[in-house]
Amino acid sequence: MPELPEVETVVRGLRPDVVGRTVTGAWTDWPRVLDGTPLAEVTAALKGRTVAGLVRRGKYIGMDCDGCYLVIHLRMTGRLYMSERPEGDDRWVHFSLALDDGRHMAFSDSRKFGRVTLCSSLDFLEEKLGPEPLTLSDADFANIIQGSSRAVKTFILDQSKIAGVGNIYADESLLRAGIHPLTPVNKLSKARTRKLGAEIRRVLQDGIDHEGASISWYRKPDGNKGESQQHFLVYGRTDLPCKLCGTAVQRTVVGQRGTHFCPKCQRL
Ligand SMILES: [Zn+2]
Repeated sequence: MPELPEVETVVRGLRPDVVGRTVTGAWTDWPRVLDGTPLAEVTAALKGRTVAGLVRRGKYIGMDCDGCYLVIHLRMTGRLYMSERPEGDDRWVHFSLALDDGRHMAFSDSRKFGRVTLCSSLDFLEEKLGPEPLTLSDADFANIIQGSSRAVKTFILDQSKIAGVGNIYADESLLRAGIHPLTPVNKLSKARTRKLGAEIRRVLQDGIDHEGASISWYRKPDGNKGESQQHFLVYGRTDLPCKLCGTAVQRTVVGQRGTHFCPKCQRL
């Protein structure tokens, strides 16, 4: 699933193509992608409006159409790119937004879990999501994380606590912080907590710098792969050496999520 670095890369890649453009129409061949709003309603709301901004919040993309918003969640296999045709350039495009330069912002999604939601504001995202990790101070991170008895990995995957961290970057940051994924949050020392906050920021920023991880469906809007996967220290490396110490990486399940960890670097 695309996480914060992948979604940020998509937003950065699309922004120059969509911001400042006026919406001229919308298309779908699978109305459920619109999350319950009929296509005619989406079209009527957006047509003639200029795209004022494209932002990321957690793993969500918010398109500000001059006071009307489209919120896009890529979920498992969603991709966004510009196409010359409303039906896009692959057989999994289920929604597109026509712009006044004659091009279309196409939403491709083979698994069909992604959603494009019309809304009047982005406030519901603020109610749903914890703060953005990249701009979180050590003190704020410590405040959020203190007191819980949940496993640390489960906790940092909870979008209502911290927005944008998913399975990949959780495993990477826990390795770098030397914390076993099953460690209860309230057993972390202040120093370990500070280290974890710093490593989460570091792995997410590295992920953005490498333009996301193309281990499955994720592609940049230009169609190319990101390179983040070339820099993983532990994620997806079951039985391969940990890149910090050489010990064989183990795989377990934490909170129903496949979890990679190094038994030497991350003792319980
Ligand atoms: Zn190790």
